[in-house]
Amino acid sequence: MTFTDTHTHLYSEEFQQDRDSMMQRAIDAGVTRLFIPSIDSTYTQQMYEIEAQYPDNVFLMMGLHPTYVKDNYEEELMHVEAELAKRKFAAVGEIGIDLYWDKTYIKEQQHAFKHQIQLAKKYKLPINIHCRDAFDETFEVLGSEKGEGLYGIFHCFTGDFKQAEQAISYGMKLGIGGVSTFKNGKIDRFLNEIDISHIVLETDSPYLAPVPYRGKRNESAYTVLVAEKLAGIYGMSIADIATITTENSKSIFGF
Ligand SMILES: [Zn+2]
Repeated sequence: MTFTDTHTHLYSEEFQQDRDSMMQRAIDAGVTRLFIPSIDSTYTQQMYEIEAQYPDNVFLMMGLHPTYVKDNYEEELMHVEAELAKRKFAAVGEIGIDLYWDKTYIKEQQHAFKHQIQLAKKYKLPINIHCRDAFDETFEVLGSEKGEGLYGIFHCFTGDFKQAEQAISYGMKLGIGGVSTFKNGKIDRFLNEIDISHIVLETDSPYLAPVPYRGKRNESAYTVLVAEKLAGIYGMSIADIATITTENSKSIFGF
């Protein structure tokens, strides 16, 4: 069985002590395709080091995370642009809008999001969207960029059925992770109405660990627990969920 974790922060400080054994647990569990979103320039070097250590398993994205959009964001965008010009990435991400923590930089967040979508189009890459408390603002930008060349993954999708359909209409797959296992997560209530062809798996580790590890550190091996939950929702075997969602991830990333 091959599972694909389409969103995992392997470079996180939380894995400093045991990154190698954490990676081994993922690979042993069949989670052999790991896609790493970028946050800002301070993590780029570590991303390259992890990729060099696990060239068959680890694939990198490049982008500026919305909560890292601050006064120096244009400098950060230049870093993203320079890296994209330098080498191949799996996607532009994670990019988007987050109004949960701070609304100060909403204009800058919108501008950075739009600009990075245009970079993705230039390099013919998918995008990996981060959206928190900002569905209207995110959809507004996606709407303005809709059409050929716009596709990707709506990471950690937490919206309702209508928002799911809207995201799909913009060429997005829905990234489903630990939240689907939460009692108050809500997403499990309508997921069976969304065709499995629109779903990819993710952990967002070290955050959002699935039940029974909720509140603890998350890791990529737990992708299997998300697959187990989806197997129940869709009435399929875990093996089928692994195969289908891995194929879905290939249709986005191109490999
Ligand atoms: Zn993330």
